[in-house]
Amino acid sequence: MTRGAVALGGNRGPVAQTFCHALDILRQRGVSLVAQAGLYDTTPVGAPDDGQRYLNSACLVETRLSPRELLDELQRVEQELGRVRGVDWGPRPLDLDLIWYGEVVCETPRLTLPHPACWYRRFVLEPLGEICADWRHPDKGLTVVELRDRWRCRPVTIALAGGTAAWRERLLREPSAFASAVRLVDWEHRDRGAGEEPGLIAWRGTPGGRAETTRPRAESADPGFRQLPADRRLDVSREAADSDAWLTFLAQSVGDEPRRVGTLELED
Ligand code: AMP
Repeated sequence: MTRGAVALGGNRGPVAQTFCHALDILRQRGVSLVAQAGLYDTTPVGAPDDGQRYLNSACLVETRLSPRELLDELQRVEQELGRVRGVDWGPRPLDLDLIWYGEVVCETPRLTLPHPACWYRRFVLEPLGEICADWRHPDKGLTVVELRDRWRCRPVTIALAGGTAAWRERLLREPSAFASAVRLVDWEHRDRGAGEEPGLIAWRGTPGGRAETTRPRAESADPGFRQLPADRRLDVSREAADSDAWLTFLAQSVGDEPRRVGTLELED
């Protein structure tokens, strides 16, 4: 049996009931439940604002399924309980992500382990803190609690690295709606950033640079990226290439405190 962690999210319909239903189905399909985190009310991330807040939770599971088989099962349950695939970041009754599975580290088009965004999403880290506080992220080298606590301060400092000086300057000067939650600094001019360690270093590759050719890796092989501190570097080239909406996405990811609103009433 291998242990793993699954994150649950949803913002449409009776979400808590859907979570219970999903866990019941998983238990009938070779996935036993070891521990269950509480329910958290969280701000939608990157979604078109449909006014619906999200509920999130997480659970520890044990299974004989391979990671790929477990992902297949999670996706089957998502489908069965009504998720419309193909609408990225749209409202959804149920989202199930495999956060980690034993010691497995992999990156394939269908499955990346640990989940590439788990280390900077508050809505994942807060529930995970209840059920696997000491789990250590193999690449980041930090435990769930250490990663979680990083985002509890206000404002969260995000350093901009790579790209062009003009790109960094523009973002630093641009007024933004999330200015109270996020403080931007220029990584290349840390002396001007009043010395505080950033929680996250958002790195952007230059157009046509090696970063572009190494996709779809979650992390760039570019030497400029590789020299940044591994525990906080995030490659945002792909997001920043389309628009600067990535910043809103990031701000929401590291934004509002998820609020614990209850527990799941699971049947024995
Ligand atoms: P999302 O819409 O954020 O739930 O992303 C789902 C897509 O991410 C699917 O195409 C999955 O195959 C892929 N994926 C890659 N790694 C994972 C993971 N660890 N957990 C869940 N989905 C994953």
